[in-house]
Amino acid sequence: MAISIHPSVDNGIKPAAKDFAGGTLTCKCTDKPVKVAIKAQTAHNHACGCTKCWKPKGALFSVVAVVPRDKVSVTQNGDKLAVVDPNAVIQRYACKGCGVHMYGRIENTKHAFYGLDFLHTELSNDNGWSAPGFAAFVSSIIESGFDPSRMGEVRSRLKQLGLEPYDCLSPPLMDALATHAAKLSGVLK
Ligand SMILES: [Zn+2]
Ligand SMILES: [Zn+2]
Repeated sequence: MAISIHPSVDNGIKPAAKDFAGGTLTCKCTDKPVKVAIKAQTAHNHACGCTKCWKPKGALFSVVAVVPRDKVSVTQNGDKLAVVDPNAVIQRYACKGCGVHMYGRIENTKHAFYGLDFLHTELSNDNGWSAPGFAAFVSSIIESGFDPSRMGEVRSRLKQLGLEPYDCLSPPLMDALATHAAKLSGVLK
């Protein structure tokens, strides 16, 4: 049996819809769910194996994407949201009722990804969000307790799904981080 990566990719990856312009994320509470309106298509969608991203029950990976922060607005029951870890680079706003992370925001204006919010579009019933394109922080699933001797199975399953596995972010995103750091330090103009 193939290893389960995440429910939204295990049966194949749904392609994005052309001209898709966003939708609504809803938490898992049956009573007074938190709703977040997203007024844009997401970018850089990927599977993530880190220990910080929210994952649905039983999933090895999260699936997470970004949108400009001005396209994100909490429309219902925002009083249920709280920051998971105020010391983390990404301030993840989770529902106190069901634990789902509704969005993650970077407040450090010097960070390369400042201005982008992190989202899990599986929380939306709208179809057409950008499809995941790679897998990040793959080795980190071991930190959540995954058997290290089975990492070969995980990486080959990710490749089979078309999600190239990386142990940090993808090369274009790592290059973007390094370029930003080089410009901040002045070695690059
Ligand atoms: Zn909730
Ligand atoms: Zn992550």
